[in-house]
Amino acid sequence: MSNDDCLFCKIANKQITSNIVYEDEQIIAFKDIAPHMPVHIVLIPKLHIHGLNEITNESSVIVAHIVMMTKVLAIKFNIDTSGYRLISNCGHDAGQSVQHLHFHLLGGALMTNHFA
Ligand code: 5GP
Ligand code: ZN
Repeated sequence: MSNDDCLFCKIANKQITSNIVYEDEQIIAFKDIAPHMPVHIVLIPKLHIHGLNEITNESSVIVAHIVMMTKVLAIKFNIDTSGYRLISNCGHDAGQSVQHLHFHLLGGALMTNHFA
């Protein structure tokens, strides 16, 4: 189900253009518009899920699929051996700015700060 007011639903529906690097029936991955690292890809379920708190048993299958595709994209962007992070910001304190579950794949340079 899609949410009319949601930016990432619009990206998933192609109402807003993005630089898509992977897509299948369940998920889509695109380059972040304001990258924090040389490789900064956003992976989202096409289904509108608000955030980590709203994952259900049923939708957790999509999340597992996103994690598996992260590995494939890390290989594609040549960061699988140098290293990478997969981050999902949840809520205000974590700085979640788009209320549609998403995971940041970050890599391509040394990350010195481990937890913040
Ligand atoms: P959050 O801050 O919610 O964890 O991550 C949202 C991310 O979406 C940010 O890194 C931001 O740069 C990215 N973003 C916001 N609007 C757009 C957009 O229109 N296109 C793309 N490709 N990324 C976007
Ligand atoms: Zn959405």
